[in-house]
Amino acid sequence: MTAPAAPGIDVEAVLAPLGSMRQNLHATYVDLHAHPELSFEEHRTAALAAERLAALGFVVHAGVGGTGVAGVLVNGDGPCVLLRADMDALPVTEDTGLPYASTVRTTTTDGVESGVMHACGHDVHVTALLGAADLLGRGRSAWSGTLVVVLQPAEELGQGARAMVDDGLYDRVPRPDIVLGQHVAPVAAGLLGVHGGPAFAGTDTVDIRLVGRGGHGSRPEATVDPVVLAASTVMRLQTIVSREVAAGDAAVVTVGTLHAGTKENIIPDEARLGVNVRSFDEAVRGRVLAAIERIARGEAAAAGTPQPPEITTRDAFPPVINDPTETERTRGVLAARFGAERVIDPGPVSGSEDVGILATAAGVPIVYWLLGGWDPEAFRAAVEAGTVDQDIPSNHSPRFAPVPHPTLETGVEALVVAALDRLAPAAPA
Ligand SMILES: [Zn+2]
Ligand SMILES: [Zn+2]
Repeated sequence: MTAPAAPGIDVEAVLAPLGSMRQNLHATYVDLHAHPELSFEEHRTAALAAERLAALGFVVHAGVGGTGVAGVLVNGDGPCVLLRADMDALPVTEDTGLPYASTVRTTTTDGVESGVMHACGHDVHVTALLGAADLLGRGRSAWSGTLVVVLQPAEELGQGARAMVDDGLYDRVPRPDIVLGQHVAPVAAGLLGVHGGPAFAGTDTVDIRLVGRGGHGSRPEATVDPVVLAASTVMRLQTIVSREVAAGDAAVVTVGTLHAGTKENIIPDEARLGVNVRSFDEAVRGRVLAAIERIARGEAAAAGTPQPPEITTRDAFPPVINDPTETERTRGVLAARFGAERVIDPGPVSGSEDVGILATAAGVPIVYWLLGGWDPEAFRAAVEAGTVDQDIPSNHSPRFAPVPHPTLETGVEALVVAALDRLAPAAPA
């Protein structure tokens, strides 16, 4: 999309009801926060969203990719804009002391008892998206085009966006011209963080099972020792970033787990490695993943193992690449609305997000920004004291506690302003 901002949309008219929405936004947020649901189990959240969107006049598609919801508002000719929020919570026991703190409990697949908490702020995302849908729906006489809102499951697994696409999302809803969205972050509420280009790292988990031939520790000649093989594999993996990735590109290869054996005088049958990869570029990512596989197979062959290693890649998040041109345009619109001092460039974020899949699957650009959520006074004090890392809990912390206001209002306003910039003005009556 390269058309200039539509000059004819009365943005003020669309945003006018925002001032009276504080209580509604607050109630929705508190309700969602107190009722967190794990990935692919977002039944209550999805039902709430579907009901709200239907009431606003959206055509609602529920159960897309499991618990995903998509709402479509066709409102005359013009571009199609997709706004996205994710819905899932985490197996974290909340320790915020908030009056609306979650008391939900679960037993994870590993059998561990845990609380369930919106520790990544996806409740903020859902609330802000429903608020934006409300304003854009009520203000539809001001604009022309198609609005698609997507409430995605299982972002924390890196699977929800892919599941919706694979379940025919773009057969059910119009293909958008652009994907827009936001993630709440531990910076001062009222701020927005916009970064063009690679914005969120891609991450992959690679499990490697190296199969040797076990035996007595006194008779190595009768075995293929997977411990030595694992050691040489771990060391050789270190050469990927240092020897195969260009100096100007970034990647991380971390072997976070290494398990083999039960006793010092037994050579075990196998060794297992858990490898985590971070990258900001699809080409670099592909190269690193291919190198891991090549090295694992090569080292196993060099050791003379009875069978090749088993290599599985899971929990894959591609990097989020904000389209540089479209991001500059949205940054300009947000800066004009909020003031340039409230729109910062946070640089690339080492965290990961699967929202980019919604854009790449449609072959369209994405602009995805950070939404400040922390109490501005507390944040300023931490910055002045140089204690942000200690005092401001990050996403996924049991103490992650965005302030509802002005976080929610800022999130709603940013979505509305960014969306209206992409839609067409209503045809004159
Ligand atoms: Zn998260
Ligand atoms: Zn998140």
